[in-house]
Amino acid sequence: MSRLIVAIDGPAGAGKSTVARRVANRLGLLFLDTGAMYRAITWKAMQQGLPLDDEEAMARLARESRIELIPGENGDRVLIDGQDVTDAIRTPEVTRNVSQVSAHAGVREVLVERQRELSKEEGVVAEGRDIGTVVFPQAPVKIFLVASPMERARRRAKDLEAKGHPVDLDELAAEIARRDAYDSNRAVSPLKAAPDAVHVDTDPMTADQVVERILEIAHARTRA
Ligand code: C5P
Repeated sequence: MSRLIVAIDGPAGAGKSTVARRVANRLGLLFLDTGAMYRAITWKAMQQGLPLDDEEAMARLARESRIELIPGENGDRVLIDGQDVTDAIRTPEVTRNVSQVSAHAGVREVLVERQRELSKEEGVVAEGRDIGTVVFPQAPVKIFLVASPMERARRRAKDLEAKGHPVDLDELAAEIARRDAYDSNRAVSPLKAAPDAVHVDTDPMTADQVVERILEIAHARTRA
């Protein structure tokens, strides 16, 4: 299945990264975590003390930064200008600010272009918020993952605790709701299902079951 594009969108904590990575492995495709790219730019802007609400400054930063997503045995590494920021981009501070940075049209333009470039040579499983609607509207396989707010908060809590960050479940649920509202209501490329996306409710499913379901959908769509 070379050059196949599988687009996986959905809100925070719906399980996109975990399942997208496994689907990519199963199909022998590149895994593209677009959220990591927005996080890397946000991290760098915070490091430099730049005003996150300044669209021009954020777009310039995106244009001038080199982001690399490097697949590895123990998970993917994220580098910006050669510096490994894999863990730094997952802190609550970056998570709190990323929606503001990703809402700038100038930032999105730069990153969407890079995402398309990465898919030129090989097939990809890309996950994010606008993959099926904006980045790859021609993708034959589009999935929109959904899960209840509490289940999503529980999953994020597990991830964060595993990384040693203390969490308060109610606070986390509120943070996820705030980020979803911001991502869904922004003017440019809001979080939205493409009209031809298949909705998968992951609440009653394990990650492996979601992977199998996506593979079934992929096979059905590519056979048609
Ligand atoms: O998926 P993740 O939680 O890492 O995404 C972080 C943030 O990056 C999202 O809340 C959203 O603001 C932004 N994002 C986006 N478009 C994408 C992927 C992520 O706006 N395709």
